[in-house]
Amino acid sequence: MGKGRLIVLTGPSGVGKGTLLRSLLQRHPDLYVSVSVTTRAPRAGEVDGQNYYFVTRPQFERMVAQGELLEWAEFAGNCYGTPRKAVEEKIQQGKWVILEIELDGARQIRKTFPSALRMFILPPSLSELENRIRGRAQDSEDAITRRLTHAREEVSAADEFDIQIVNDNFEEALGKIEVALFKPAAAIC
Ligand code: ADP
Ligand code: 5GP
Repeated sequence: MGKGRLIVLTGPSGVGKGTLLRSLLQRHPDLYVSVSVTTRAPRAGEVDGQNYYFVTRPQFERMVAQGELLEWAEFAGNCYGTPRKAVEEKIQQGKWVILEIELDGARQIRKTFPSALRMFILPPSLSELENRIRGRAQDSEDAITRRLTHAREEVSAADEFDIQIVNDNFEEALGKIEVALFKPAAAIC
């Protein structure tokens, strides 16, 4: 059995993290992507237990109080968190576990899991990011504004991460994530 590992993928909402992760999983089905808990309402097509565990705010607060979340944060008016148990179990089983989380959560993981590999996905530009969020056509105008305000703050923190990858050409970005994950450290530099 291999050695378990924690990998953090962060980047502004709409940059393409979910799409990149889906392709990554198709190519590397051994990876485990943590399913977060959120108080956000499901978007069209999102499935409970698959995209997120959708919970009420009181349920979320109970999970926080009982120490069930590895990290959590409030983002654009909703709460998001990583269930601790599944992640710890998978790492113990030798799995590579990916957390797709926003900046505050990534900062918490840096403190609690300093050995985690932390990657930041950048958009080619903020206007392209806005196009992608609008193209996804699943957020209200208010939610789009909040996501874009957050995006500026998040992008300016990209240097805090071990690796920065611009998701302009999709296949290239995916290839860079694979290099970061599977090539020996010396080959990345
Ligand atoms: P996130 O998970 O970061 O919020 P998504 O994966 O939902 O972002 O992607 C947002 C939108 O951007 C989707 O419509 C997706 O198809 C599109 N997208 C992702 N990567 C690219 C890319 N390299 N070029 C153009 N569009 C992209
Ligand atoms: P969305 O509402 O677009 O699905 O997600 C909004 C933001 O929340 C994204 O930046 C996403 O990475 C982040 N996010 C999703 N799950 C978690 C989580 O468990 N913890 C934290 N801190 N952020 C999360």
